[in-house]
Order: sequence, then structure tokens, then C-alpha cells
Amino acid sequence: MQLRLYDTRTRAVRDFVAGRTVRLYVCGITPYDAAHLGHAFTYVTFDALTRYLEHRGHRVVSVRNVTDVDDDILRRARELGEDYLELGRREVARFDRDLDGLGVRRPDAVPLATATVPAIVHAVRGLVAGGHAYALDDGRVYFDTAASGRFAELSRLDDAELRTRFAANGGDLDAPGKRARLDFLLWQPSADGEPRWDSDWGPGRPGWHIECSVMVSEELGSVVDIHGGGTDLVFPHHSAEMLQAEALTGQGPFARVWMHVAMVALDGVKMSKSLGNLVFVADLLERYEAGAVRRYLLEHHYRQGWSYSDVALDEAAAGFKRWQDAAGGDGARNDLAASFHAALCDDLDTPTAIAVLDAAADAGAGATVRELAAILGFAVR
Ligand SMILES: [Zn+2]
Repeated sequence: MQLRLYDTRTRAVRDFVAGRTVRLYVCGITPYDAAHLGHAFTYVTFDALTRYLEHRGHRVVSVRNVTDVDDDILRRARELGEDYLELGRREVARFDRDLDGLGVRRPDAVPLATATVPAIVHAVRGLVAGGHAYALDDGRVYFDTAASGRFAELSRLDDAELRTRFAANGGDLDAPGKRARLDFLLWQPSADGEPRWDSDWGPGRPGWHIECSVMVSEELGSVVDIHGGGTDLVFPHHSAEMLQAEALTGQGPFARVWMHVAMVALDGVKMSKSLGNLVFVADLLERYEAGAVRRYLLEHHYRQGWSYSDVALDEAAAGFKRWQDAAGGDGARNDLAASFHAALCDDLDTPTAIAVLDAAADAGAGATVRELAAILGFAVR
């Protein structure tokens, strides 16, 4: 059966055609706070996708970066009076523990932005030389979005919304010297006390977006099969990544499929650090089995936003228990296995796949429950 996936850039569910090796890049965290349910939804989704691709015979090379230098982590390190690298290491270890607890396998490579800076300087130099970027006298370097004319291609947002999101993500619309308000930083001089690296434009540090473009190309080459992240990264982060990467290589598309996971809310309001309305993975794993939390996440289709509820998580835990109770049996239902694969081939429809697993459990088909649950990364026996 043909696997079909939705691609954000073309706005269509399309056949996913790939060779044996699938190159997957998922934007990672800025390590300055604990993993919450929104992170978990994104990374469990890509873990399920990876396992399903492997089940289908692909070898998945997965990369998830760590943005270990940017405005947020430097600010948090200042507040704590701690070295930003030390803070980053501690938070990465905590994040890994939380995701391990959910059965998310580690990626093949976890590049650090700070370890990529020489390659980033090289890339920024190439963008300036190619006329895609311009340097100001004070050491700032900007991507020239007007020259590209494609900054809205991925998000298809109108100008007002582009500006709103640009500013909400730390972009300075009115910084002096910029050619266009949406031009984004590739390089900036470091403020007092901030880390700095030598560059053609003086000592400074990279912008957020160029870090990922360069980590992608360093780890996976000029084209990836699937580039993922949360929907909150579509603009400006992934829109910028795409322009930079395609400008550098002169070829496109940079990502054959752009795959974005919807946001998780609490009481109808998107979970975010700034609002403080977070449900933390570690807290849930103290109260529930990993399989229950994992099932709860995958009960939601990755493109549909949803709101956390204790009641629904309790129901997911009861559902997971029914799988475990049924898994001791030997019955098999090939028709249900076929439905399970049809669901996952239909843009990774995990809610339907889980409903099929429930049907297998209800039918006493223990062998089918064990087999299908394992494909989605559940330890059921
Ligand atoms: Zn990224």
C-alpha cells in the first residue's frame, strides 16, 4: 500500500516516494526548560513515523538538532547566573530522559549549533557573495527577503500575519539599516557577556534560522526527504531555512515533504512557556505508564490541534490496559491488520490505527494486538 503524507508547502496529501534510505530532519529544542506535552506530541509523532517507515523496509537516518545558542537560552542562563552551555547540557539530559520515558528512540545524530559555527560562517559568506544577503557596517548580516520574493511561500500568510509572527519570534521589524522589514538576521555582533565567534563581520554569533539550514546540510546533504517540526515553526523558522538552503545550493526543493505537527492546548489555550500553562512529560510519567501517555498522544492526528484533559488521559490508560490484557492471547485478525496499515498509509492516521488495535483487543486477537502495537512503538505483552 502506498504511504501518503501531507506536505505543508504544496498543501496536499501526496504519495511519499523515497529510496531505501529516508533522510529525516526534525527541529529540536532550545534547551532551557523542561519538555512539555507539546514537545512530546511532536517527537512521539516523528518516532511513530520513523518506526512505520522502518517497518516498511526503509532505513531512516534521523537528525534532531539542539539550538544551544540563541536569545532565549542566553537570557535564561543570565537569569540563573549559569553558563549557557552548562544549562544546555543539563536541559538536554532532562529532555532525553523524558523522551526515553515515552519510548521515543534517540536520533542518529544530534548536532549542536555551537559546534557548527565555522560552517555557519562559511554559509553566511556564501549567501552574501551570491547576492542573497547583505552585511551592515556594525556587523549584522541580513537575508534579503525582497530579492528572494518567496518568504511567504511555505506559510501562505498575508503580510500583516507575517509581520505579527516575525515579531513574536524575536524578529525586529524596525531595526535600522534593514532593506525590508522581514529581512532576518544571519549573523549579529554579540552583546557584552554573550558568547562570540570570529567572522568576516567581526566577533558575533549566528541567527537561529541559519543554524538549522547548515546543520541539515552538514548531516544530511542538500535535500531531505522529510523536514519536520511543530506548526509554530512554519513561519518564520522553516520559511527562512528553506530560502537560505535553496539559495546556497541553487536547487530545490530543500525538503521533499514539510511535515508539521499541530499544537497542544490546555483548556483551549495553546501551551506555551510565556503563558505558563504547561503540562510536563515528567509529571505525567510519574502518574501513568509510558504506554498510556504514548497512546494518549497518538490518539490525536498530528495535523489536528487538541486540548489536554485528565479524563481523556485516564481513558487512554484504560485502553492501553485492555491491549495488555488481550495481548496474552493467540488470535489473529488479518483483516484488522490490513485496516491498521491502511490508516497509517493515509497520512499517518494514528487515531484510526489505535481504534483498529482496540477492535483487535475486543475480538480477542492477541497476536494481532502484539504485532500492531509493536509497530507503533508500544511495549505490549
Ligand atoms: Zn530548526
